[in-house]
Amino acid sequence: MRVYLDNNATTIVDPQVKSAMDPFFSQYYGNPNSLHSFASDTHIDLNNALEKIYAGINAPKQDSIVVTSCATESNNWVLKSIYFEYILTGRKNHIIVSEVEHPSIIATAKFLESLGTKVTYLPINSEGLIEAQSVRDNITDKTALVSVMWANNETGAIFPIEEIAEICKEKGVLFHTDAVQAIGKIKVNVQHLDIDYLSFSAHKFHGPKGVGALYMKKGKELTPLLHGGSQMGGHRSGTLNVAGIVGMGKAMEIAVDAIDFDMPDVKELRDHLEDELLKIEDTFVVTPRQKRTDNTMLISFRGVEGESMLWDLNKAGIAASTGSACASEDLESNPVMEAIGAEADLAHTAIRFSLSRFTTKDEIDYTIGVVKEAVIRLREISSSYAYTPKNHNSQL
Ligand code: PLP
Repeated sequence: MRVYLDNNATTIVDPQVKSAMDPFFSQYYGNPNSLHSFASDTHIDLNNALEKIYAGINAPKQDSIVVTSCATESNNWVLKSIYFEYILTGRKNHIIVSEVEHPSIIATAKFLESLGTKVTYLPINSEGLIEAQSVRDNITDKTALVSVMWANNETGAIFPIEEIAEICKEKGVLFHTDAVQAIGKIKVNVQHLDIDYLSFSAHKFHGPKGVGALYMKKGKELTPLLHGGSQMGGHRSGTLNVAGIVGMGKAMEIAVDAIDFDMPDVKELRDHLEDELLKIEDTFVVTPRQKRTDNTMLISFRGVEGESMLWDLNKAGIAASTGSACASEDLESNPVMEAIGAEADLAHTAIRFSLSRFTTKDEIDYTIGVVKEAVIRLREISSSYAYTPKNHNSQL
């Protein structure tokens, strides 16, 4: 059996999305910006797709949603534009990000730091959550931007975006959220919250890879990162990825419906997996269930190196993740485990299981069996693990 439980890394393209995209490779292939019927053949479908994307996050027409190549581009764009407009010009000198942002935020923040920007990296608490108060405590009159993700890719932890947005508005600071792990899992409504910028990526919600977007509130438009054309209202140059945009629109439409119709089933499967795995002694899950997305679990089996577990899972056809960059001579620990201050011997043991609406009960039952056997095998050969009756399971 092959089981895909790495849906926070990427997802299968929904067959309905693929069908919607198919005509835009060899049938309707005109460049939408050209002045002939091959171009106009694409216009209705492009507009429909954009409407679905606006509807998916409840963005009003006067705001902008600019299609990009991925969320990495959207995240880079926000931070670098803020640098050009506020920091390079001397109006402000400071930005705030959380220490568990995706590398597309952290590495960009570090780059801007090398150019003289002051950056505050907000810590997470022992539950893997950001406290909104820490945003308030760190804003100064020189702060240009706060960027905090909506949901964390490793733990699924849902951050207090509403409160953070309110604090930023009150203090007159721009607010960006990376909503990559939120779309299709949490209802995202940019009119209910005071969000200036929001990033997302189609391949995380059963759309194609290589297409994402940046939402910008009216009046908060950014300096383009890519110059050279009039596409996307001049906000982002480059020939439109027509098939990708059509696919993202279809994927968004389905994903938003799936929050009510499919996520309860996904949660039931995730909870079943979690309940069964927590029966293994000396096992820990990060972030309480009600505070994370319904598809995600970061779990640690004391004494079981994450990479060894992945190896056993992979041999059995199961895909999961350790969330850590694995250098040849040095096994790094999961960055979130480090950030919550997990003991050193636990920090290397985290495994992330992330489900989707395509995950089945049979797949989860098979996974439970494989994980239970792997834990026994790997603990037997572990030099560091010694079971004592005191050991028990819990929420980290
Ligand atoms: N932000 C988060 C929270 C992510 O999980 C990811 C992908 O893993 C990204 C950004 C980057 O997305 P993309 O692959 O579209 O560049």
